[in-house]
Amino acid sequence: MIVEKAKVRVKCDASGCNNLCDYVIVNKKFVFDGSVYLCEKCMKSLYHEIGKFMIPKNVKPIYKKGENNE
Ligand SMILES: [Zn+2]
Repeated sequence: MIVEKAKVRVKCDASGCNNLCDYVIVNKKFVFDGSVYLCEKCMKSLYHEIGKFMIPKNVKPIYKKGENNE
């Protein structure tokens, strides 16, 4: 599954949202073509919801004990 900036301007797939898409989630493993188009607002809302369950792993810790102490 990959997320990329949308290259086409189609409507956001979220129901009730009339914005144009900014991002596309591509998953060729799904039965359908699998592309989900989301606008900036819906993407942020989705990310917020995901954040309830998963914490991004690539965020660097603010404090590192015993390293780079000058
Ligand atoms: Zn939207």
